[in-house]
Amino acid sequence: MKILISNVRAVLLDEADTVLSGAFVAVEDGKIASVGTQRPAGPFDREIDGKDNVLMPGFVNAHTHVPMTAMRGYGDGNNLQDWLEKFIFPTEDRWDDRAVACCADLGLAEMIASGVTCIADMYMRTHVVAQRVAESGISANLSCGGVLFSDAFDPETDHDCVALRELTRDWHGYNGGQILVDASIHGEYTSRAEMWEWVTAYAKEHGLGMHVHISETRAEHEACKARHGGLTPIQTLNQYGVWDVRAIAAHCVWTTPEDWAIMAEKGVSAIHNPMSNLKLGSGIAPVSAMAKAGVNVALGTDGVSSNNCTDLFGDLKLAAILQNGANCDPLALLPAQALRMATENGGKALGRKTGRIQAGYDADLILVDFQALNLTPCHDVISNLVYAAHGSNVVMNMARGKVIYQNGEFFTIDIDRVKREVRDYALPLLFQN
Ligand SMILES: [Zn+2]
Repeated sequence: MKILISNVRAVLLDEADTVLSGAFVAVEDGKIASVGTQRPAGPFDREIDGKDNVLMPGFVNAHTHVPMTAMRGYGDGNNLQDWLEKFIFPTEDRWDDRAVACCADLGLAEMIASGVTCIADMYMRTHVVAQRVAESGISANLSCGGVLFSDAFDPETDHDCVALRELTRDWHGYNGGQILVDASIHGEYTSRAEMWEWVTAYAKEHGLGMHVHISETRAEHEACKARHGGLTPIQTLNQYGVWDVRAIAAHCVWTTPEDWAIMAEKGVSAIHNPMSNLKLGSGIAPVSAMAKAGVNVALGTDGVSSNNCTDLFGDLKLAAILQNGANCDPLALLPAQALRMATENGGKALGRKTGRIQAGYDADLILVDFQALNLTPCHDVISNLVYAAHGSNVVMNMARGKVIYQNGEFFTIDIDRVKREVRDYALPLLFQN
């Protein structure tokens, strides 16, 4: 399938932050084939007129828990411990595969409609999430989030080790890399050294990345130091080689300059979740300082249960203005830097060639309606995207070269069926008394 997007303003996100007017972007076999201001030689199977729209790389939502869409707003207004123990954990005990499937679909649809083309997700029943992602057409790095609370650990029988082995066997590399499996440690505070060693060895042996929650709250960060002779979560896991593979560390709110030196050296990406961190009172991750220290910083929404939506435009704006406010410096995080966090930096974090409009990159592209009131007038396209756009301004989502959403219509998800299934099956199952 050869598609031409014509007559469009294209935000390339190259080194020069080029916004190319009158651009033609050709797509073939899931990749961007050419970018320029001259119409490329055809023929094309389909042409999409980009007049009045801006074309940009699709968003990479680099830290999500997609089935948790079911818990939007549930238990809000409680402290973190009560929220988890009285609301979230009891609900999670009730999941079955059918409920995970429709709630994952709902979350994926919300993301697709607001411009996400790639995610890094950590959740249980991951094989079901994998099936839903595969159908949806977006790309994903999927992980199971290993926990270990008991003293006995046998990787042959441990639930999370079995799940990781089966997920890797069934899904790693699916459809030319649409799905990649990452090994995972849910967090330092929810597991122990035996698991870190096994998971790390498994990731090295199978060429997997690593997905870990790091220093989200001060209490978690300080408790780790108390347990491990003053070492932070980044430093503790570093002793076990966890960062020797491509790794993403979600949150990093309380990480230190010493942590950043390790992250920069080992290539550990920090995933910033500003909406979740503020809502749960976790704090403000020092991401402009981390970026200056050489850490690759990408952006995520976290689960809908703690955001409460997956419109990455919201997190993008918040990330940008939060650093300026926290540092009393309007130049602390420039709009183009913030936009790169939501696109190419996420691609790097996930080991993918996505997040730029450049030949050879994955054809993960979205069109944004620049005739919308909130984007009129436009003195600076990138400023408008970062500070003024909403997910509802997205009029087309192309993932891996395939148009999966256009003008409110989903082409890979039966949205009416999904809404019915969530309402009639999942919600009664999860929230019964
Ligand atoms: Zn999380």
